Amino acid sequence: MKTVDNFNFKDKKALIRVDFNVPLDGDLNVTDTSRIEAAKPTIIKVLEDGGSAILMSHLGRPKGQVNPDMSLKHITSKVADIIGVTVKFAEDCVGSTAEEAVSNLKSGEVLLLENLRFHAAEEKGDKEFAAQLAKLGDVYVNDAFGTAHRAHASTTIVAESFSEDKCFGYLLAKEIESIDKVMQTGEKPVTAILGGSKVSSKITIIENILDKVDHLIIGGGMTYTFIKAQGGKVGNSICEDDKQELALNILKQAKEKGVEVHIPVDVLAADDFSNDANTKVVPVNEIPDGWEGLDAGPKTLENFKEVILKSKTILWNGPIGVFELPTFAKGTIAIGNFIDEATSKGAFSLVGGGDSVAAVKQFGFEDKVSYVSTGGGAMLESLEGKTLPGIAAIL
Ligand code: AMP
Repeated sequence: MKTVDNFNFKDKKALIRVDFNVPLDGDLNVTDTSRIEAAKPTIIKVLEDGGSAILMSHLGRPKGQVNPDMSLKHITSKVADIIGVTVKFAEDCVGSTAEEAVSNLKSGEVLLLENLRFHAAEEKGDKEFAAQLAKLGDVYVNDAFGTAHRAHASTTIVAESFSEDKCFGYLLAKEIESIDKVMQTGEKPVTAILGGSKVSSKITIIENILDKVDHLIIGGGMTYTFIKAQGGKVGNSICEDDKQELALNILKQAKEKGVEVHIPVDVLAADDFSNDANTKVVPVNEIPDGWEGLDAGPKTLENFKEVILKSKTILWNGPIGVFELPTFAKGTIAIGNFIDEATSKGAFSLVGGGDSVAAVKQFGFEDKVSYVSTGGGAMLESLEGKTLPGIAAIL
């Protein structure tokens, strides 16, 4: 895997696809700088070699139209603060404006191009547009995992114009390495913890992951489809009746493949989907009518703890309960604590894909797990076993 470490950027212009799709408040100030900070090491490497960095990104969903509220101009000073050098801005990402800004760029300088998605050609993966982008740099660097599952001009097609001079930035390399550690090279036992609301949204991941893991922990709303399929009473719990057969089939496949599946045995049930509901712990297959399971119960958490603590490689995707409501967040927090403990004993732990990342950040586990993925959709597609076009374009 070629990374920026394989290049000396002295007197070279690095065209870097970053993910600066950051949240802005009503006054267009950046409210979360983590994506800019994540790209910093790659940019610094280029500058310290004596090269210059041309940064390209999208921001929001302008759908091919110029939209002043989504201009990357608003984040230029924040990028400068974080990188620690002056950042120039080009009012367009292609054409004479961009080309002139690039030709005036000296070693050690950074140029931020205007929002790629102001051009419809970006998301279409247009070859002509990609060729115009390619003209701007000597080396193409992709450091945007969040868009690596899209075959857009700046994430994939542009790489065709660089036969050898293309590589991954540190952030993207780290994402690829972390996913490989779980899916291919991880030390056994490997455990996947899959939560979230629905079987239907996780089915491709489950099917792919059965070939990679020793243990599969199933939690969250998915639980009830499995329990009902096995003849249990789930009350008002979230349940996909049309996925019951699929659930039984997953259990059968897991058995054939020697994967141990761990499903909750008890749950914290509530008589309403609200933080102030009446609650009680009940066996997972005896949830009374009018009640619904919203978090894992104590026996379940004991079982899960045992599995997690003996694991050497852990993947966590999806909360184990309705963590947005504090009454039902305890299971998700407990899972975070078990993973923290396993990690401090030497396990490798990867958290990724949507809501589990939000939970990990909210409850302060970010620095306690080995790696938190930055790309929601890209991460999910990787777990589904797909080769991401942005990654394939460089390999
Ligand atoms: P997903 O996007 O599929 O990972 O699902 C995340 C959502 O699942 C979160 O918003 C959780 O509140 C929800 N969730 C987790 N457990 C349950 C449950 N037992 N009942 C209903 N929703 C749940």
